[in-house]
Amino acid sequence: MAASKPSLIALQNVTRQYQTEGMQVKALDDISLTIEKGEFVAIMGQSGSGKSTLMNILGCLDTPSDGSYTINGHDVSQLSNDQLSALRLKTFGFVFQRYQLLPSLSALDNVALPAIYSHTPAQEREQKAQALLARLGLGDRQGHKPGELSGGQQQRVSVARALINGAEVILADEPTGALDSSSGEQLLSLLKDLHEEGVTVILITHDAAVAEHAHRQIHLLDGKIVADTNDAERSTSNHATPAHTTAEKVIAPFKSISGFAALTMAFSALRLNWFRTLLTLLGIIIGVAAVVTMMAIGEGGKQDVLKKIEAIGTNLISVRPGGGNMRNTGEIATLTLDDAEALRSLPGVIYVAPERTSRKTIRFAQNDFSGRITGTTPDYLYAKDWEMAQGVFFTEDDVTHYAPVVVLGDTVAETLFDDKYQAVGRYVLMANSLYQVIGVLKAKGASAGGSDQDDEVLIPISTGRLKVFGRAYLTGITVKASGSDVASTVKDAVLATLVQRHGTEDVMVFTTDSLVEAVTETQNTLTWLLASVAAISLFVGGIGVMNIMLVNVTERKREIGLRMATGAKPADILKQFNIEAWVVCILGGALGVILGYGIIFLVSQFAISVAYTLTPPVLAFVTSLCVGVIFGYAPALKASRLSPIDALSED
Ligand code: ADP
Ligand code: MG
Repeated sequence: MAASKPSLIALQNVTRQYQTEGMQVKALDDISLTIEKGEFVAIMGQSGSGKSTLMNILGCLDTPSDGSYTINGHDVSQLSNDQLSALRLKTFGFVFQRYQLLPSLSALDNVALPAIYSHTPAQEREQKAQALLARLGLGDRQGHKPGELSGGQQQRVSVARALINGAEVILADEPTGALDSSSGEQLLSLLKDLHEEGVTVILITHDAAVAEHAHRQIHLLDGKIVADTNDAERSTSNHATPAHTTAEKVIAPFKSISGFAALTMAFSALRLNWFRTLLTLLGIIIGVAAVVTMMAIGEGGKQDVLKKIEAIGTNLISVRPGGGNMRNTGEIATLTLDDAEALRSLPGVIYVAPERTSRKTIRFAQNDFSGRITGTTPDYLYAKDWEMAQGVFFTEDDVTHYAPVVVLGDTVAETLFDDKYQAVGRYVLMANSLYQVIGVLKAKGASAGGSDQDDEVLIPISTGRLKVFGRAYLTGITVKASGSDVASTVKDAVLATLVQRHGTEDVMVFTTDSLVEAVTETQNTLTWLLASVAAISLFVGGIGVMNIMLVNVTERKREIGLRMATGAKPADILKQFNIEAWVVCILGGALGVILGYGIIFLVSQFAISVAYTLTPPVLAFVTSLCVGVIFGYAPALKASRLSPIDALSED
């Protein structure tokens, strides 16, 4: 008969040795033992006799050093970790001396915990847990935390937890050890009832009175069985066994917990330790906010500059004397008025404004203004899109006749005259000559580079050469093309013409396009520089997450051990802790983006240009998620590799 139907539990010559500091301790020494379905067995012995070691092996929390252990005919040493987890989940139910309830969960949630790992739907979990608690006389204590329950009540909660997945075997290690005598009696009668219903009960105790309740007593001494009442009285229950599970089904591994279940666990764990969570989040929040803000400001600055450049006009070509391979020492005398005249006839050119500048001081009454004086032609007005605020610009006639006239920028008019609207018609003194103010330019404001554009002092180039500059060479020529589409063609033609005239490339020709390019490039570099500083702070935040998660794992060893003892697979633990890190980082990322936008908004109130683009928040968010995935993995792996017995025996 035994051949056709294997025993529920069979140990053959099982030994368990511990190696401690060179000493070998044989906690179990050549144990052979069979336990049939439906038995009520007490394992007895004094402290240190090997009872807990035996129970850990029976419950698949530990493996023998030697010998074999079979469950329903399955050699345990041949089973995978996941199959062992499945056994702990469905076949065994543990009851510990110190209850091992999770202090943060209610009685109901403690009972329902193992059912998460068996993929029982939430509603069914709750119903089952409620029914079990009601049956154990705790119907009115469902919502209580373990700390609000007496020892006897806590132990009954742990029995309910052991039963929630329909355990066939209850393994109870000194379950009455911490209880007063009446609670102990109550618990023993509960175990008896379960035995009546067909559950196999293995009870560990050092108390003979407690062992009396069982139908079979096994005595251990120094890791050896010294007595077994098995032969005298074999009492398996006559009652029906619980819903029969076939041997194969018992070891079929379960899928990992769902992402949703892990998420729920993560949130409750984070809420429990909300202050620490906040501190962890802070690192990520600041990092992400920094990325978002810095990139927005960098991008805003760039767009600002580009806008201003565009306002100058994209069809302007400017010619400067000198060249890449010429030494720029002082005056470079290459450009002449004749050059400017020659450019005028190029196709696509509409205005050519020669410029000759010099720094001078202008006086009117007590006021003076020191700055750049430009000698030019009427084309200057049109090439640079100036408009007149008052008076007129000088004409070709003025240029021909060396007229002593001057046109002032808004700033200059304001500096020289107490009332700038009185400027036109007045005479100002410059380089010992008097000039009549004939016009004031309309204000333009600051340039792309941030300098004032309204500090113009313009005189006919002929007058300038005669009275101010002395030399005939130009400091520049501004050429305006008929449209931005021909600007680059005109630029090439201008260069070709000048090279041909001079016989060498001694001028530089730019369009605003090349300026745009240069600005974009520098600003991009700046933006990425800012972003990388911010990314470093994000990285530091990530290390913070890893650090806190490692502390977390160490602190929650007992919880991890308990989860594993009740059937969680290493993969479940890995998932739980990984997702916890992800949640921290995603939460931190989201809050960081919000904070970043808050800062951007504030900053934009102070006339600093910012750009609301999608890239920085997406980038920051994705980075913080990656940080979570990368830095959360090591702690999660550490958690999943904990040994449940070590974790549970932690004091
Ligand atoms: P009991 O539960 O009967 O009190 P245990 O099974 O806990 O006894 O321990 C049996 C023997 O094994 C004891 O001598 C104990 O010191 C030793 N032992 C138990 N666990 C370990 C361990 N992790 N490392 C070393 N020795 C151990
Ligand atoms: Mg013990």
